[in-house]
Amino acid sequence: METPLCSICLENDDILCNGCRAKLEDGDITQEEVELSRLLTDLAGRIENLEDVEIKHAIPTADALVIVTAEGDGPKVVGRNGRVVKKIAERFDKSIRVVEDTGDPHEVVEKLLAPVEYKGINTVYKPDGEERKIVVDEQQKPRVPFTEDEFEDLVERLTDEHLNLSFE
Ligand SMILES: [Zn+2]
Repeated sequence: METPLCSICLENDDILCNGCRAKLEDGDITQEEVELSRLLTDLAGRIENLEDVEIKHAIPTADALVIVTAEGDGPKVVGRNGRVVKKIAERFDKSIRVVEDTGDPHEVVEKLLAPVEYKGINTVYKPDGEERKIVVDEQQKPRVPFTEDEFEDLVERLTDEHLNLSFE
């Protein structure tokens, strides 16, 4: 398994090496990345295919944790029938979204919103250029674990594109 933590820190549960501690203090890795990496290492002994995954980031928002995996590793982190992702959700007591690091805006948006599907992408023309917004049925709002701002920040970080979120 590849994670933001070094292999030595993955294998223990309480202390961090000097290198990983410095990264945590500098904000290069998050506390969630430390906990998630160790949880998955622990589960990998019992769950098929988990050993092979690469975890790139774990990004916390107020109500959710977004796990960014290498391309192709998403289904392994979700697990059969969501088995792995349920354990992660129990540990963090948050909604979990698993996104592969493809940089593809459509895919990233789809995975962040899942199981909610968006109605469309609208282009809004403004004096200083155009904006694109992802439109989600407002009745689905309670099922989306992000605020508009959190969503926009995540999409920008994961794809370098600016997309607004709008509940209509
Ligand atoms: Zn370390």
